[in-house]
Amino acid sequence: MSKPQTELTDRLAGMVGSANVTANPALRLDGLVPALRVAPASTAEVADCLRLCSEMNLAVVPAGRGTWLECGNPLRRADVVLSLERMNRIIDYSPPDLTITVEAGMRLRGFNETIRGDRLWLPLDPPGASIASIGAIIACNSSGALRCGYGTPRDYLIGLSLAHADGSQSKSGGRVVKNVAGYDLNKLYVGSYGTLAVITEATFKLRPLPEHHVTIALTAKKTQPLTAIARQVQAAELQPAAFVLTSMAFEELFGPNQGAETLLLRFADNEATVTYQVEWLGRACADEYAWTEVSGDDEAALWNKVCDFDNQWQCAVRFSVPLSATTAAYEYLLSEGDCRVTADLGSGIVRAAGNGKDDLTIGLIHRYRAAAEKLGGTLFIEKAALIVRQQTCAWSAVGAHGRLMRAIKEKFDPQGILNPGRFVAGI
Ligand SMILES: Cc1cc2nc3c(=O)[nH]c(=O)nc-3n(C[C@H](O)[C@H](O)[C@H](O)COP(=O)(O)OP(=O)(O)OC[C@H]3O[C@@H](n4cnc5c(N)ncnc54)[C@H](O)[C@@H]3O)c2cc1C
Repeated sequence: MSKPQTELTDRLAGMVGSANVTANPALRLDGLVPALRVAPASTAEVADCLRLCSEMNLAVVPAGRGTWLECGNPLRRADVVLSLERMNRIIDYSPPDLTITVEAGMRLRGFNETIRGDRLWLPLDPPGASIASIGAIIACNSSGALRCGYGTPRDYLIGLSLAHADGSQSKSGGRVVKNVAGYDLNKLYVGSYGTLAVITEATFKLRPLPEHHVTIALTAKKTQPLTAIARQVQAAELQPAAFVLTSMAFEELFGPNQGAETLLLRFADNEATVTYQVEWLGRACADEYAWTEVSGDDEAALWNKVCDFDNQWQCAVRFSVPLSATTAAYEYLLSEGDCRVTADLGSGIVRAAGNGKDDLTIGLIHRYRAAAEKLGGTLFIEKAALIVRQQTCAWSAVGAHGRLMRAIKEKFDPQGILNPGRFVAGI
């Protein structure tokens, strides 16, 4: 170990305890090898670690559970991985007020299991939901199929505690649903991919668990395509909690002869409202589609599969298009060749996963991006081999907004030590 590295290890160990500092943590991020991993246990300790890294001009990678650390553009530098895995406590919980404050390293799943007893939940189902940490979900504004009925993390966040690159601490928002007027600074950190500050605590407003929920899975029987019934649902006054058209084959759930494409509608509300919507759908489908009703554990397992549909694939991209272009984007992606596609017909998010890490994949991503823009949308690379990410850009161009975003980064992190290079416009 070099002299500066020994000094860094010793000083970090003095702050968080030597058991929580790992030298040479056998971790590669975008081809870089971080020298240290440190796991502080409070906002103050996070701030102390950042102050030291700033003094020594070391690049810091904030981490929750570390399952998606290579998201976005390749890092330019990565010296210290700052893990929040020890910060997983509930700080304040008030069921009558429907609010909760938790540390950012807490897992979404554990969190929802804890509050389920009070019939409350945070209705988010991002990819990797079984392990994802709350801080990372906010940092990436990650959402899944429930976005159709319930929105994204930014819709539930009412307050944050933060540790900044220079070692200072701040709070934004508050702990009550009805916050004061003024700039809603919370929103600045949502989707900032760990480039502005480290999120250490978050306060959310919660929702009551729906009284009743069921998923209807439709597969085509005859010539009528699933897009036909999907368009009818879009035009109707139904309010599905999730509304997904997927090219995934659910043989194990629906039998081998049910066709490869499935339309999934999840209804969640009081029993009468759910029943009304299911009956409406039944009448609209007549006998044109095969109908499977899924509930209980099977329903949860089904949606986990949809959420993590890209697990076995090397490359995944996300189109964000206007609602009216969702089925066109879905059909376009399938026409481009061997990939799996999932379209959220309630939010305009279309995700595709395939294999490849060569020039063909790079060319394909450029074509995808042109197609997304032609449909009035954007393309984001959710995961791809380093070589692919080095020769493309994870986000579509941000144009003139880039200047404003760089100016904000300059204010929050003038040395550029937080996830350098990860975000748009070289941020
Ligand atoms: C297999 C898989 C596929 C995924 N695919 C997608 C996807 O397609 N789209 C999508 O939106 N999400 C995706 N995710 C991410 C997921 O939805 C969650 O955001 C992620 O799982 C969070 O888990 P984590 O704690 O391991 O995050 P980590 O891997 O620890 O961190 C993810 C990012 O958030 C930053 N970060 C983490 N914690 C903080 C913090 N406290 N403060 C500031 N920055 C922080 C990190 O620097 C990193 O950039 C995927 C996750 C997995 C496991």
